[in-house]
Amino acid sequence: MRKNIFPSLTTTTQLRINLAAIQHNYTLLKKQFMGEELAAVVKANAYGLGAQQVSQSLASIGCCHFFVATLDEGMKLRAHLPDHQYKIYVLNGMPPYSEKIFYEWRLTPVLNTYDQVKTWANLCTELDKKLPCNIHLDTGLNRLGLDEKNIRFLSQNPKILEDIDLQYWMTHLACSDQENHPMNTEQKERFMQHLAKLPKAKASLTASDGMLISPDFHFDMGRAGVALYGVNPHPNSKRNLKDVVELYAQILQVRDVKPEESVGYTASYTTKNPRKVAVVSCGYADGYFRSASNKAAMYINEHRCPVIGKISMDLTTIDVTDVPENLLHPGRAVEVFGRNNSLNDFANNAETIAYEVLTAISQRAQRIYS
Ligand SMILES: *Cc1c(COP(=O)(O)O)cnc(C)c1O
Repeated sequence: MRKNIFPSLTTTTQLRINLAAIQHNYTLLKKQFMGEELAAVVKANAYGLGAQQVSQSLASIGCCHFFVATLDEGMKLRAHLPDHQYKIYVLNGMPPYSEKIFYEWRLTPVLNTYDQVKTWANLCTELDKKLPCNIHLDTGLNRLGLDEKNIRFLSQNPKILEDIDLQYWMTHLACSDQENHPMNTEQKERFMQHLAKLPKAKASLTASDGMLISPDFHFDMGRAGVALYGVNPHPNSKRNLKDVVELYAQILQVRDVKPEESVGYTASYTTKNPRKVAVVSCGYADGYFRSASNKAAMYINEHRCPVIGKISMDLTTIDVTDVPENLLHPGRAVEVFGRNNSLNDFANNAETIAYEVLTAISQRAQRIYS
């Protein structure tokens, strides 16, 4: 008799992560690359989906390059991917005094300042080993990376690069979520101008969105993050990415609300006529943003159930007036995101982007891998 009942008695939300779909998305993107590498970006615990599970499943289909954000993430990932063939790059660069840890854990720093380049070169000299690194050139994002002045200095003093094993020149685009934004080409051209004046090495320009714009943006390695996790960075262009995540919660209680009554904190929603309301076991502490109150929707089978009232910490109230009675019982699973409800749609309602939605799904949601 447990049919249609939430599959766990003890947890209230469940994040289903389809590793086969992540593999499909990697293979799909990789097919567009002609001999160039495709790296997987697994920072922030693979956008909340589990760096170990995601990386190991991609490694099993031939992915050898992985990007994390921090040294700590790199060390954890190295423990799961101990073989030398797996390259782990740390995007946030090399904090002061950390260079030996990079060496000991076989992590490749993405050097973001001239000082970091110097520190790495000194370590190479000290150990008498050419150690691998990337160097990040800023081309207009004005975030991490060497600025124009330091790039010029490096191009005039290239000797420092003779001691290190430079893997990739890197840069990162500011506006590639918009396919036709003029900055995309401007940054690409600025990158190529810099490369022409610097010692030869492979180059890496773009994240998921840029690589989908055109092969001109591929260079020698792409860095795919969000597209692997099923989010189309250009929702208006058709891609064949497979959905990866589904978040389910359950009905805790169903109640009838009379006309002219309010629902939830701050009484932000008032009924005009009699409504049936389900209280669902998912709130902002699970990553269901309060800013989507009175805007987002959940689904019970194919029935759309608008969120009414404020989303609270552990609970959300949805309007189930039009849902058949036999689907409205405590323990009934409710789709928070998934087949009917894309992360992009929820993100729009919450006035954010799918990246933030993914990385905010809290540890309270039980992870189920398939
Ligand atoms: C996060 C990040 C990526 C991956 O971005 P997606 O848009 O998720 O594909 C690639 N490169 C850099 C430098 C990043 O910070």
